[in-house]
Amino acid sequence: MGVTFKLKMRALWWGLILCLGWGLLASRGSWAQGVELHCSQCGKELKGRYYVLEGRYYCTEDMPRCSKCGRRLTGKYYRDSQGKNICQKDFLAQAPTCSVCKRKVVDQAFTVYRDGLVACATCKAAGLPQCFLCRLPIREGGLVFSDGRRSCEYHSHNIVTTQAQAQTYFNKAWKLIARYVSPKITYDPRSVSVHIVDYNLFLERLRNSPNHDDESRVYGLTNTYGPSSNPQKAVSQVFLLQGLPSADALSTMVHECGHVWQQKNRKIDLDLLRSEGFCQWLSYKVNVGLRRQDQVRILLDRDDPYYGQGLQYYLQLERRGGLPAVFRYALGG
Ligand SMILES: [Zn+2]
Ligand SMILES: [Zn+2]
Ligand SMILES: [Zn+2]
Ligand SMILES: [Zn+2]
Ligand SMILES: [Zn+2]
Repeated sequence: MGVTFKLKMRALWWGLILCLGWGLLASRGSWAQGVELHCSQCGKELKGRYYVLEGRYYCTEDMPRCSKCGRRLTGKYYRDSQGKNICQKDFLAQAPTCSVCKRKVVDQAFTVYRDGLVACATCKAAGLPQCFLCRLPIREGGLVFSDGRRSCEYHSHNIVTTQAQAQTYFNKAWKLIARYVSPKITYDPRSVSVHIVDYNLFLERLRNSPNHDDESRVYGLTNTYGPSSNPQKAVSQVFLLQGLPSADALSTMVHECGHVWQQKNRKIDLDLLRSEGFCQWLSYKVNVGLRRQDQVRILLDRDDPYYGQGLQYYLQLERRGGLPAVFRYALGG
């Protein structure tokens, strides 16, 4: 009876470690005299060294191993989402690093943002300001714009801030459309002006235009004026939100070029799916041409009725009837 008691005490002690550690402590015990212990795997009687893990006994041969490196679990270990055991070294190697506090996320949930950015649950719940582009919480670093927006460290590089840059991206967008989509999509430089604007001016413009998306997700805008009976006489103003990273600025500009072309060449008044869907499709084609997988993903991930489903509609048109079908529908012909 005394021995049984001793074993129970030991089991309790292991149990205690179990609660204290992240996972379980696997350790060597010494063979208890007078009590037969058997390996829970092979059934052999345990003499000398054995392992205890989660209340089970193992001989040195059958000791559970790390599912990644195959080494015996002799220290702290963890269990992954599929229920497999992982040693501490491999667990830490695969654990994501929080982009906000820069710590390894080991004992809490985390959220993945665009471009592979990660925030641990603590940082997410801390009520921190967010990056206007990716929504990542910001503890330090990054930029603060005059209109109060902030961008995270990651999205503060290669950003478009000046009027000259906006014009350059606009010109570049047309060249890329000609190269990756069709040289038939052109514009008359005399009838288009390009403006870089902060968020306050941008919102003002956005609210004056009849059709718009979720305000915090729009980065460009095209206003077209002219006699509705003669679209050829139309004049367009293109607005680009200040502070977009290069790839996003280009994606947005390609989209706006689509509006400029569509408004000038349309046969009818265009509904939202027809116009936004086409501009998303144009942006998709250019980004595929440039092999910008991250931008392509952002476009495909949307599933709202005009932008997301509009893109899907145009992709389907393209599969069935090629570019002629796309252009015909885009202009309402
Ligand atoms: Zn065994
Ligand atoms: Zn391992
Ligand atoms: Zn964090
Ligand atoms: Zn960001
Ligand atoms: Zn649009």
